[in-house]
Amino acid sequence: MHDDRELVEARLKRVLDERIRPAVHPASVPLDVAVWHAPGEPVPVAEGLAAGTSPIRVGDAWGAPWGTSWFTVTGTVPADWAGRTVEAVLDLGFDENMPGFQCEGLVYRPDGSPVKGLNPRNQWVRVGAPVEGGEEVRLHIEAAANPVILDYHPFLPTQLGDKETAGSEPQYRLARMDLAIFDETVWQLVIDLEVLGELMAELPADGARRWELLRAVERALDAIDLQDVNGTAAAARAELAGVLAAPAVPSAHRISAVGHAHIDSAWLWPLRETVRKVARTASNMTALLEEEPEFVFAMSQAQQWAWIKEHRPEVWARVVKAVAEGRFVPTGGMWVESDTNMPGSEAMARQFVHGKRFFLDEFGVENEEVWLPDTFGFAAGLPQIIKAAGSKWLLTQKISWSQVNTFPHHTFLWEGLDGTRIFTHFPPVDTYNCSMKGSEIAHAARNFRDKGVARHSLAPTGWGDGGGGTTREMVAKAARMRDLEGSATVTWETPAQFFAKAEAEYPAPPVWVGELYLELHRATLTSQAKTKQGNRRSESLLREAELWAATAAVRTGFDYPHERLDRLWKTVLLHQFHDILPGSSIAWVHREAEKTYAAVAAELNEIIDGAQRALAGNPGSGELVFNAAPHARDGVPAGGAAPVAAPAPAAALRTRAEGGYILADDLLRVEIDSRGLVVSAYDLRAERETVAPGQAANLLQIHPDFPNMWDAWDVDQFYRNTVTDLVDADEVTPGEAPGSVRVVRSFSASRVTQVLTVAAGRLDIRTEVDWHETEKFLKLAFPLDVHADRYASESQYGHVFRATHTNTSWEAAKFEACNHKFLHVAEPGWGVALVTDSTYGHDVTRTVRASDSGTTTTLRVSLLRAPRFPDPETDQGVHRFRHALVPGATIGDAVREGWFVNLPERRVPGDAEVAPLVTVDDDAVVVTAVKLADDGSGDVVVRFHESRGGRARARVSPGFAATGVVVTDLLERPLAGATAPEPAPADGAVTVSLRPFELVTLRFSR
Ligand SMILES: [Zn+2]
Repeated sequence: MHDDRELVEARLKRVLDERIRPAVHPASVPLDVAVWHAPGEPVPVAEGLAAGTSPIRVGDAWGAPWGTSWFTVTGTVPADWAGRTVEAVLDLGFDENMPGFQCEGLVYRPDGSPVKGLNPRNQWVRVGAPVEGGEEVRLHIEAAANPVILDYHPFLPTQLGDKETAGSEPQYRLARMDLAIFDETVWQLVIDLEVLGELMAELPADGARRWELLRAVERALDAIDLQDVNGTAAAARAELAGVLAAPAVPSAHRISAVGHAHIDSAWLWPLRETVRKVARTASNMTALLEEEPEFVFAMSQAQQWAWIKEHRPEVWARVVKAVAEGRFVPTGGMWVESDTNMPGSEAMARQFVHGKRFFLDEFGVENEEVWLPDTFGFAAGLPQIIKAAGSKWLLTQKISWSQVNTFPHHTFLWEGLDGTRIFTHFPPVDTYNCSMKGSEIAHAARNFRDKGVARHSLAPTGWGDGGGGTTREMVAKAARMRDLEGSATVTWETPAQFFAKAEAEYPAPPVWVGELYLELHRATLTSQAKTKQGNRRSESLLREAELWAATAAVRTGFDYPHERLDRLWKTVLLHQFHDILPGSSIAWVHREAEKTYAAVAAELNEIIDGAQRALAGNPGSGELVFNAAPHARDGVPAGGAAPVAAPAPAAALRTRAEGGYILADDLLRVEIDSRGLVVSAYDLRAERETVAPGQAANLLQIHPDFPNMWDAWDVDQFYRNTVTDLVDADEVTPGEAPGSVRVVRSFSASRVTQVLTVAAGRLDIRTEVDWHETEKFLKLAFPLDVHADRYASESQYGHVFRATHTNTSWEAAKFEACNHKFLHVAEPGWGVALVTDSTYGHDVTRTVRASDSGTTTTLRVSLLRAPRFPDPETDQGVHRFRHALVPGATIGDAVREGWFVNLPERRVPGDAEVAPLVTVDDDAVVVTAVKLADDGSGDVVVRFHESRGGRARARVSPGFAATGVVVTDLLERPLAGATAPEPAPADGAVTVSLRPFELVTLRFSR
């Protein structure tokens, strides 16, 4: 037989595009359209419905960037359409390639009840099926003129990302506002042909099934009268029925489709727009659930549910009903889909506490699956936190974005830093926006790396990023692939149903140990420094507020601010969303975040101040030092307060013979040369030099930084090829404070001022940068005379080791990584810590010196970048950082110093020494939270972990009359299977043994 395959395939494409799809709506009449452009920010629905309107025609421009326009469309169903299915087709001026990244609408009835959302791929509103003819139609559209930031010219700087700079040029033209007949048979034919045509393209050309499909398609096309598609569509469908009925082969891959709309809580739109995006998507999905009995939709991020509840009660009512039916499913059990690299230990835990509690309180639903499809890498502390929250499964697909190495598994056990293992699935479909295309389904089946031992994978299905969700077309395609020869099978299921099956069929999956590092988006550890500092500062203040408020509540009856802390935690958790904390949002988001963090800090400081004053006694007599750190400091116990001691003498400052200055205390002697660089940091106890010979620490280095794509997200490896050392100083002088040296440097339009001090064997460096660079990367370097294969960096409830070398592509790809409060590198018996109050990105490299064959290990922290997309002014202005170099530090010292630099002491007038509410007698055991129980019972909750990677046995003593103690999960519920510790009769203290990095939560009743 002659090979006419390509001829038939080309025929299918043209006939579908030009004849069959247009025949879905074979007749239409225009609607009358009127509009009211709301003058500023979005208005309540009632106000939008009641506003006066002026006429507007199809083809007219509308929509200043970020503006809202309320359209009213009216019309009458033609009498001769009686008996037909009729829809309004409402095209606001969509570009169908960018669902979620452009204008969107929510359709309301005149009574204000929402109907459904309008998106580029979802422009219809059902009017009647069938209609009688003569019906009056009146609909209102709340249309958001969100400008396109990304797609037309990807990664070019734009002023559209903030309403303050976006101007008023209309962004869209009204494209179609019609009433139209909907021909269900033609629509079904379109789906038949799409499914078969797409499947056909994935099948081997030498296989019989492909040719069976080809011949069936050809017969269907022959059966269509191109002048009467509507009249012949049924005959065409009849030609396809046979091939659509052929069942899947027994070994077919099995896909659990989960209806989904990935909605970034802020990204190329501000937070307030996400509130509306969520309402549009939820309206769409509840409407689709009513039409499609097999469809299941899962929505993550409790915050987004809370927005619906607060802002769109009518949508909420529909959601609540669908949840009760088990088809609109809460998933993830987190407050938002957060970043997981940067959130601190407690914040990462609270993402689960607040997320799970919301779903439990509202619906009695507890998620056991964690849903993080789009997060930029996963810290090794996460498995333990997931387990401690009472969850057991994790889903992400983001690691498929890695540039260099292909992850070896799709279903596996992920082992975290403490040894906890979590059953994890990476959907092999490699997208969280599956649209049920044949190519996606076939890719999932082919790509699945656990074939032969497992058969199930999950496909999050629906338009996402900017929302929209699943469409009726996707549901119809899935129905045809339920059991179809040549295809993977597709079944709508909840995430939990998928995980239960996947786990049951795969009892011994492979294990991956350590972080799930994303080999991409590495610059998200640095971009938008103020957002990152706001996060770190907020985390520290929340710790202090809980600690001092709990202490004051127990000791003085202080009114513990449950509601305020709950609200403030949720605000901070929201800002850990995976495009806010990573610094990848538009200017508007980061401008607002800076203000929000300032308000959070003000409120937390007020709580802290109130609690400390309640504890401090008579303000007229003396001054107390409060120590919120988990270790005693200068005689003040951890979590306690004591009278101010005589200040330690400032380090001695001497001039240096060769120029510059020497700062020294009893433990450390630091030489700062005439360039303001640290050429020596001599550990006087160990009699050992820290800085590599011939090199200088505290060296600012600047690199060009223009990645190939994703400017705010990415730094590409080639940035290192070019570097400028900032060695010229404007001034190197004694600082204002005794025992300090001040260094000032200027470069291009920027200026850096540093103040260096030495105290308690530690070199403190305060850096202020007035930053006016473009596409540059600023690093602060410490070349150390240390020979080590690996270094430690702090993560949640512990630390991880990474290689200092680049033996394999996996190690080489980690050229920028995340730390929390410290980095540590060591030879046996001697190490160095570098601690920070606010930076996360860093790199560590090594060289071997020709002079003495010694190894130089260079620790560099990342201070600032200056990408121009999506925020063209990223990081411009003044920034302040604090770092400290601690020669001779053990890992325990690194942990302690990291806390100290993040939790400065507070001085409060008063004379009443404050004993800690809870005391832990082992410095390896770090308390991360002391608080009152969230249920308002007055119980005291304390959470701690082993921090050094060893074993610990700690005595935990309540500083109050405890009547009982239980071990709990993160949600403060008694932990199933845990043995209650036995309190000592004398003081109620309990002794707890901990595994390396183990985290424990105790709840003391009073
Ligand atoms: Zn996302």
